[in-house]
Amino acid sequence: MGARIGVIGAGQVGAAASYLLSSTPGVSDIVLVDVDPARAAGEAADIGHAAAFGTAARVQEGSYADLAGAAVVVITAGASLKPGQTRLELLQQNLRIVDHITEQVLRAAPGAILLFATNPVDVMPAIAVQRWGVAPGRAIGTGCTLDSIRFRDRLSHHLEVSPSSVHAYVLGEHGDSEVLLWSGAQVGGLPLLDFAQQSGRPIDTALQRTMAEDVRTAAYRIKAGKGVSNFGIGGCIARLVRAIVGDERSVFTVSTYLPELLGVQRTCVSLPHVIGRTGASTPYLPPLADDEATALRASAEVLAQTIAGGLQTLGEKG
Ligand code: NAD
Repeated sequence: MGARIGVIGAGQVGAAASYLLSSTPGVSDIVLVDVDPARAAGEAADIGHAAAFGTAARVQEGSYADLAGAAVVVITAGASLKPGQTRLELLQQNLRIVDHITEQVLRAAPGAILLFATNPVDVMPAIAVQRWGVAPGRAIGTGCTLDSIRFRDRLSHHLEVSPSSVHAYVLGEHGDSEVLLWSGAQVGGLPLLDFAQQSGRPIDTALQRTMAEDVRTAAYRIKAGKGVSNFGIGGCIARLVRAIVGDERSVFTVSTYLPELLGVQRTCVSLPHVIGRTGASTPYLPPLADDEATALRASAEVLAQTIAGGLQTLGEKG
């Protein structure tokens, strides 16, 4: 018997995630919850029919009560990024939605691990910890897991090696202040830049800047083309759920609440964490070059301020 997974928000991201979850090993049962039950029912039926060609995972529209016993509840509900809008600008809109959802989910499925995808994704785990008392390792933001795969994908095309052989991470905010960890990136046990040099495809500082910009702006370009960004994050969600329900203890750069990072108090940014059945481990801080440490500290500061503002908003108006 596999795990029950709740997905709150049956929009573009929730539907893509549910579709991929329906063929994810260890998942037997998906419950889609949305303020628009007709939309959730439509997606559940459509995805359920696709699943019936293969794994036959059960996909159903439901209420919060149907989340009872869920191993993981994925939160994708809320407004999405409009052209020209930053993720942090989404804060006011989505904060109240996700705060309310967190309360409902905890009531229905107190044992579930919460996996947040709604933007600004790094603020939501902090709200769950600070307002609802969830343990930091059980309130996880997808964070820079997607950015890290975008970084690997970009490097793998340039180097003509499989992304699975590229070990490269993006840390910090899932957004404009994110930090590409060039100093710690490796391919085949070699420092990335040495591998690139030996392969005859060197990566100079100008190319590093271009690649960083490509990774940082990927979502904006995808949205400019198709209006939404859903399959990349759907794959990311399904991969993280697989690691949790399979108790893989694999390492991903998710975001969790941090009482302190590099002198910044009460923040939430992506760092490597071990992901398994109990959620995310405490984070690991990799060795950083001076400019990377400065940039990560600045990113942590951006989030600390945003979280403080968000908590104040909820406290004042909640
Ligand atoms: P969408 O508009 O297609 O879907 C949002 C869904 O949420 C809708 O079905 C809506 O009815 C539902 N909803 C709204 N309020 C709700 C509530 N209170 N309870 C239950 N359901 C509610 O948007 P989308 O494209 O699916 O994006 C969803 C979120 O995911 C956005 O915040 C977007 O920015 C974010 N996102 C995150 C990443 C990432 O890397 N973390 C990537 C892409 C998108």
